[in-house]
Amino acid sequence: LVSRKRQERNTVVALGEVEVGGGKPVMIAGPCSIESYEQVREVAAHLKASGITVMRGGAFKPRTSPYDFQGLGLEGLRILKEVADEFGLQTISEIVDPAHIELACDYIDVIQIGARNMQNFELLKAAGDVRKPILLKRGLAATIDEFLHAAEYIVSRGNTQVMLIERGIRTYEKATRNTLDISAVPILKQESHLPVLVDVTHSTGRKDILAPCAKAALAAGADGVMVEVHPNPAIALSDAAQQLNFSEFTDFYDDVLRSGLMK
Ligand code: PEP
Ligand code: MN
Repeated sequence: LVSRKRQERNTVVALGEVEVGGGKPVMIAGPCSIESYEQVREVAAHLKASGITVMRGGAFKPRTSPYDFQGLGLEGLRILKEVADEFGLQTISEIVDPAHIELACDYIDVIQIGARNMQNFELLKAAGDVRKPILLKRGLAATIDEFLHAAEYIVSRGNTQVMLIERGIRTYEKATRNTLDISAVPILKQESHLPVLVDVTHSTGRKDILAPCAKAALAAGADGVMVEVHPNPAIALSDAAQQLNFSEFTDFYDDVLRSGLMK
């Protein structure tokens, strides 16, 4: 069902006024984790002032270590909703438990399935049973074929609003956190009619190359870019090293806009 052979026209996922996959790329930004009402509100105000209407923020955080900050859970989703309602933003947050999928629909506009859960088939089925946009991340070591089959799990249950997001794959290279597979973008666009985005933060894990990677993604045909932004990354409870502060984000976004690739 996700194959281009089955459907020639692009699937377009509407997020408020933004149409992902409709030809005009989208910029999605927001903190790695929802840490407090004040933190999310500050980010929302900055994004809104920058003309960005889709905000991300993690409430259920899949952390490598059990001793790391695990997220605020449902309270985080409540904060995200309150702030999004105030600023008129669309929201994206990761859900890790199939039992939370339906509940999450009351709080957020897009359900993210994280890289570590790309082949959590019960979670994929639950995501397929609701009628909310899903942002499906490529697994840490998933092939493009496995990625598309994961999307098929969701679409085959009737939820056609699936967006794919390349977030880097694991290779021997240590200069970046993961290896951004730019070639996956045109391949996914050829093979599937679903929107394809690129998460430049988790794929690279380093701030200094976000703009060139975002431009490369857009030049390769990506329908959008996702990036992490935090009011004060140095004290962030997760991904402190790679989130952009507001002025860095403004520079990044200006750089991408100046390229003309977002129009
Ligand atoms: C995230 O986007 O918050 C995240 C945890 O990313 P990934 O699942 O790609 O590691
Ligand atoms: Mn993160």
